[in-house]
Amino acid sequence: MARIVMKFGGTSMAGTERIRRVANIVRRQQEAGHEVAVVVSAMAGETDRLVNFCREANPLFDPAEYDVVVASGEQVTAGLLALTLQALGCKARSWMGWQVPIRTVESHAKARVDAIDSDRLCNAMAAGEIAVLPGFQGLSIDGRVTTMGRGGSDTSAVAVAAAVSADRCDIYTDVDGVYTTDPRIVARARKLKAVTYEEMLELASVGAKVLQTRSVGLAMKEGVRVQVLSSFIDDDAPPADDLPGTLIVSDEEMEKLDMERQHVTGIAHDKNEAKVILTRVPDKPGAVANIFTPLADASINVDMIIQNVGREKGETDVTFTVPQADLARTQALLEDRRESIGFNRIITDSQVAKISVVGVGMKSHAGVAAQMFAALADRGINIQAITTSEIKVSVLIDEDETELAVRILHTAYGLDAVDEAA
Ligand code: ADP
Ligand code: ASP
Ligand code: MG
Repeated sequence: MARIVMKFGGTSMAGTERIRRVANIVRRQQEAGHEVAVVVSAMAGETDRLVNFCREANPLFDPAEYDVVVASGEQVTAGLLALTLQALGCKARSWMGWQVPIRTVESHAKARVDAIDSDRLCNAMAAGEIAVLPGFQGLSIDGRVTTMGRGGSDTSAVAVAAAVSADRCDIYTDVDGVYTTDPRIVARARKLKAVTYEEMLELASVGAKVLQTRSVGLAMKEGVRVQVLSSFIDDDAPPADDLPGTLIVSDEEMEKLDMERQHVTGIAHDKNEAKVILTRVPDKPGAVANIFTPLADASINVDMIIQNVGREKGETDVTFTVPQADLARTQALLEDRRESIGFNRIITDSQVAKISVVGVGMKSHAGVAAQMFAALADRGINIQAITTSEIKVSVLIDEDETELAVRILHTAYGLDAVDEAA
């Protein structure tokens, strides 16, 4: 017998029929003799709809009230799943974030899990009751509803798994595992049997939205065993205990699996960045700090930065990227400081995309970046900015070339699936 936390995403929960399918998967897991807790997302599209209502009601919405509104999507699906499980003859009840409670800290709309009082959950599970929890939502220190940022139900699931010391956290979604790149873009993407926490963390942080970045960081810290798998399966599909999906594992476990490893594990893209160019910034100590300190103070995450070679007259151009959602704020903050920073013009461009290649193999293998630049150049794709880390290379390109670039790189690094028949 094991203790399993199962998470179902928005597409899996979209409507009565799909919830019934989910309930059957949950029931089967319990019938296999396991103690089960389930974390659910709102129905697909529902959170977007609720966010829009907030915007319409008040463009400068109070994040605490935003949380009250957007957390409701998960309340509905949690209740509906409990009802459906009961209709199948299972003992089940829902537990809202405040009832567990899932205590969170930091700001509304991007709260972080601090502690989960799991005693009552564990008692219920041990008594054969299926615990159904809404993902995404928690309770603030002052007793208000919070949410954990978009895609946050993944993090709720991992946090619950850690709190109840689950043997495994199964993340059910609309694809059957983690692929070498988004399988909706590259038909020849290959499913990975396993991927390390470190690689998954990097892939998620550069745009592979299959898992929320924070959920991977938390799983790595707490040593939670995570599997990504599909909820769109037939009754005779192999059970989750056979590990049909992708396992997120430690480096040591990966070594033991002894799989053939490539230098590049996966490729991700992100269309949510925007480029900012400040022209004719003074080329002197302190100038760059004058630009980025106010952005940091406003919690705006700057990603790529390029300071061009100084022009004549001690001036230079500075290029950087910020999340598209923060572009307007960035522009306003910099305009307010035009005098003190001393730049000439702000040029912005939202029509950009960041393409990243990720792989632990890069640590010991030179030339991965050069291969990327050459493959893109071959097809005439211009690179506007570059950043690297120990296991990642990212480039900024024109947004219209996103899909093409991902496909080219997928082939260039030998990641394309080969036909079985070939
Ligand atoms: P859920 O609603 O279940 O949380 P998401 O839409 O958040 O699902 O994440 C699943 C989606 O992630 C897939 O449909 C797929 O298009 C996308 N995706 C992006 N990169 C990858 C990847 N490397 N492997 C698998 N899926 C990926
Ligand atoms: N429903 C929330 C969202 O769409 C949380 C989640 O599904 O993970 O962001
Ligand atoms: Mg998701």
